[in-house]
Amino acid sequence: MKLKKNDQIELVCTDLSDQGFGIGHLDGMTIFVSDLLPGEKAKVRIIKTNKSWAIGKTVERLTESPDRVQPVCEKADACGGCSLMHLAYPAQLERKEKQLKDLFGRVDEQIQVLPPIGMDQPLHYRNKAQFPIGVIDGKSVGGFYRPRTNTIVPIRTCAIQSDKINEIYQWMLDHLSTVQAQSLRHLLVRHSFKTGEVLVVLIGPENLGFESLAKALKKDHPEVAGVIWNKNERNDNVILGEEYEVLEGKDSLHEKCLDLDIDLHFKSFFQVNPAQMEKLYTCALDLASLQPEDRVIELYSGTGTIGLLASRKAREVIGVEIVPEAVENAKANARANHIENAQFVCMDASEFAARNSSAADVVMVDPPRKGMSEQGIRDIVRLSPRKIVYISCNPRTLARDLGLFKADGYRCNVIQPVDMFPYTSGMECVALLEKEISTKS
Ligand code: SAH
Repeated sequence: MKLKKNDQIELVCTDLSDQGFGIGHLDGMTIFVSDLLPGEKAKVRIIKTNKSWAIGKTVERLTESPDRVQPVCEKADACGGCSLMHLAYPAQLERKEKQLKDLFGRVDEQIQVLPPIGMDQPLHYRNKAQFPIGVIDGKSVGGFYRPRTNTIVPIRTCAIQSDKINEIYQWMLDHLSTVQAQSLRHLLVRHSFKTGEVLVVLIGPENLGFESLAKALKKDHPEVAGVIWNKNERNDNVILGEEYEVLEGKDSLHEKCLDLDIDLHFKSFFQVNPAQMEKLYTCALDLASLQPEDRVIELYSGTGTIGLLASRKAREVIGVEIVPEAVENAKANARANHIENAQFVCMDASEFAARNSSAADVVMVDPPRKGMSEQGIRDIVRLSPRKIVYISCNPRTLARDLGLFKADGYRCNVIQPVDMFPYTSGMECVALLEKEISTKS
């Protein structure tokens, strides 16, 4: 029997995909079903088929997993941001650990994947939100996009955002005129948990009288450190444009990380889960076990946080980052924290590794989701570091890159996952790679 669209079947879910879909098998086909958990049996309607796999929708659950919980967010299904809202938090961590063990075990059996570091309070953890804004039924709305569409699922509160971000966002929805909301593409809100400061960025092609809105917001919420209009006329999925205008206050936020003071421009990258960020960086530095004589190169350095923490333990740190505003932040952050042995350069990471001829004792990398390039990896290996600490927000590209490093003589022994994204399928990992000593005699 070949499965067709609209077929109704009974399916037992045996596993969970890394995107949070339940997985079942029938007649040699792998079937992915949203909102179905391992151990559960359900009546499933097939909504899409391919050669070897199909996508199904649960029509009726016949049995229920003991790990199933009522989602705290009623929009969880439609929004698609949190694909694990229906799974109890301890079970999320177990699942993620299993997925990572399977994935990295295929790269190298010797890799030890440690149990993920989870959160005690895994909700309202995010310090940054980018809400698409629009008008539905004559009302200004915001929310998140329905998966793989540009349709806004309207929401007024998000269970993983900080309460402060929800509060500012609701204020905006209540005060944006429909003309303004129609024109705006996104509202970006950042909140420092440590200092309480908030930064609000209105993103769209035109400034439609945003000054008075900014003034009113600042009056009602003195914790707002800056309101910015960012001009973006593009029609693709790039959220921020180049040009911007400060409407109120400043264009950066005062942040803190461990014992560092951080100046954070709204265009600069910063980890979205500040509580877990500190655990992540502490773990990365522990794994690096820096020596006082070490020369450290940090690629993809953002605002320089990791490099600045490393500079306290090493002789010298060079951070490399492509976004000019982030490099300016990193330089200012070094000054503000009285750190003199850290330098930051604005350059493509691979280009820096290719051009830099002097050796490094330890290289720390923290690339975006797509990971590193083959050439970039070869250029790092050429610097012949004792250790490489690779921080990654995408286990798949990390696994690929660990394979490439292994072929070049750097083996990963240990990976520490840190759950930066509870209730979603995301996972952050720190991998330690060490140069293999040749044992040939
Ligand atoms: N280590 C930092 C930033 C990590 S995010 C932190 O933890 O805060 C990845 C960073 O890589 C971003 O700041 C991004 O701007 C930067 N980046 C992306 N592509 C790059 C490239 N080709 N070369 C250098 N930096 C790049």
